[in-house]
Amino acid sequence: FTPAELVAVRADFPLLGRTVRDGKRLVYLDSAATSQKPQVVLDTEVDFYEQRNAAVHRGAHALAEEATEAFEHARQQVAALVGTDVGEIVWTPGATTGINLVATGIQHATLGRGGEAAERFRVGPGDEILVTEAEHHSNLVPWQELAARTGATLRWIPVGDDGRLDLSGLEAAGGTTGSGAGRADDDGRGGAGLINERTRVVAFAHVSNVTGAVAPVSRIVAAARRVGALTVLDACQSVPHRPVDLHALGVDFAVFSAHKTLGPTGVGALYGRRELLEALPPVTTGGSMVEVVTMEGTTFAPPPLKFEAGTQMVAQAVGFGAAADYLRELGMDAVCAHEAELATELLRIAEIPGVRVIGPATVGTLGQDAGPEAGLPDRVAAVSFVVDGVHAHDVGQVLDDAGIAVRVGHHCAQPLHRRFGIAATARASASVYTTVDEVTAFREALAGVRAFFGAE
Ligand code: PMP
Repeated sequence: FTPAELVAVRADFPLLGRTVRDGKRLVYLDSAATSQKPQVVLDTEVDFYEQRNAAVHRGAHALAEEATEAFEHARQQVAALVGTDVGEIVWTPGATTGINLVATGIQHATLGRGGEAAERFRVGPGDEILVTEAEHHSNLVPWQELAARTGATLRWIPVGDDGRLDLSGLEAAGGTTGSGAGRADDDGRGGAGLINERTRVVAFAHVSNVTGAVAPVSRIVAAARRVGALTVLDACQSVPHRPVDLHALGVDFAVFSAHKTLGPTGVGALYGRRELLEALPPVTTGGSMVEVVTMEGTTFAPPPLKFEAGTQMVAQAVGFGAAADYLRELGMDAVCAHEAELATELLRIAEIPGVRVIGPATVGTLGQDAGPEAGLPDRVAAVSFVVDGVHAHDVGQVLDDAGIAVRVGHHCAQPLHRRFGIAATARASASVYTTVDEVTAFREALAGVRAFFGAE
């Protein structure tokens, strides 16, 4: 963005104008947890309630038609942001629910629901589900549960010292599973790669919410395809920050959340390839997701409605649509370039004595092997760090006293923190509205933290 463009962007976000802690200007560096919302999103939601509110998909009156139109238009806006067909976007309350929908749908298929069409989803003893050591709990616990309920084995791609996935054991060629590559019940069948003919599902984050590292999606998807495994992409930390074309990436399912994408809370999206959404059994059943209901049984509506039982979060979905359009109008290439500059500025905290960054130390560019992502940055502007001799919560508190909002804790990624031998980190993360000036203020405040606690 030009300086003038960035001033205009900031002016779109009313909350950024407020002060905190006795009049200090707010420096909001917690956008990876949740982003702020532009006025157009707030206006769109209010306008929906003021002018269009009605039950969608059923009423035979003008308001119901307008509400339905707004709701379905939002689906088009969100589909356009991520390069999918409109019918491939299912509204969910958030990314977590979307992942659970897929994992539990697979369990239902395994129980025989969905018949022959759903056979491709079945998992059982001897099958493997692959995740990574870097996952947010939301993309780990549902797969642990699926494994426990079906008798399948959970394996994971390890994380290297640089915070990136260690793919050395991904496929069988080398004959090793890679150091630290885990399986809960290693029975000596090692030798097969982490992705092998037993792999049924590969679920992984596009971008880690802790390290900011971008996963090699193309390579993982290609390996999964070779063995017929389903891919599930957690795109929570990519969709708000870079161009994402889910068709080009070739994943089978993907999830993301509106509230991290300049949109409202309470809504997210699940993408599924059309034929997979058609075959996957629904999990939540009831009103609105049916075709014909008799006392003996029910036929389901086609997707996406099959997965949208009950009254939906209509106003929030409409707000999400406005957020998607806002981002597309800024241009995701411009957003990505702006945030790459912020990432570089954030990473300069490593120059402060006693500060250690957990994750890639620099911003590089993805090479040709990244396929559709070639030329994009290899990390985003979410930087987790530890300060020697000072607990992350104390770091957060000193920064907060200066009006600077960062996140502290394990960021819902305990295994990744355990991998680095630490209980907690502080994380500073940026968004479209973040300025270099704010990052400088953060670095200056951070430079004083160790002295404050007498740690130097
Ligand atoms: N995955 C990642 C990588 C995330 O950062 C988050 C949110 N912290 C989630 C999943 C969960 O998203 P939600 O809470 O919106 O369901």
